[in-house]
Amino acid sequence: MDKDIVIDLLKSIDGSFKDKNSKSKVLKKDIELLKNEKATYKEVNDLAIEVGQNLSQSINEFVTAESLPNEKMYFNISNRLMNHTLKNNYDIVTGYASDVQNQLNQAANLHLKAQVPDFNQEKVKGLVERLTAAESFDDIKWILDEPLVTFTQSIVDDTIQKNVEFQSNVGLKPRITRTVVGKPCDWCKNLAGSYSYNDAPDDIYRRHERCHCIVDYNPGDGRKQNVWTKNWK
Ligand SMILES: [Zn+2]
Repeated sequence: MDKDIVIDLLKSIDGSFKDKNSKSKVLKKDIELLKNEKATYKEVNDLAIEVGQNLSQSINEFVTAESLPNEKMYFNISNRLMNHTLKNNYDIVTGYASDVQNQLNQAANLHLKAQVPDFNQEKVKGLVERLTAAESFDDIKWILDEPLVTFTQSIVDDTIQKNVEFQSNVGLKPRITRTVVGKPCDWCKNLAGSYSYNDAPDDIYRRHERCHCIVDYNPGDGRKQNVWTKNWK
């Protein structure tokens, strides 16, 4: 397998992806809100969906049956393709999410640093395996669509989980809110609500494909509650 095929493929995908991001109205708005210290996890979620969709479109421009040797997605290709591009999304999303979390911490008067989750190598491995399992590229092509968006959204969910756990461990009372978007399924409707860290359902950070539900976390919410309780006493 000629190494240069993958290098060229990644170069083309990166170029198209950067171009889409730089022209994105959603990203422009998200960055503007961050500058004005008004961004929340809703914007982080929007950014993740946009970056995930842009990546998926860029990959689909260049990764076609004809572009692959024997029209097959070999392990060597899918492994490098997924690790390179999804790590890139991980860097973009965790970078923006950290800035938002730090601003939220500051606004709540918490001297805590934003926590960054690990790159979920297991999930990437799962995608790589599904991509290489099929006889023909057309059978697995769909994995390069919505699953890449869902993976990118999971980086936001992992970030919230990591920060909520951290803040709970230092004695705060974090609250997590999950809101449905569009026409939700029964599973999502059932998960919607506002929960304290200890009462949150196990599936609060999970999502099915095409689920655009927003998981939100603002350290100020738990903080406010503490202050009120103190005043009442
Ligand atoms: Zn949902």
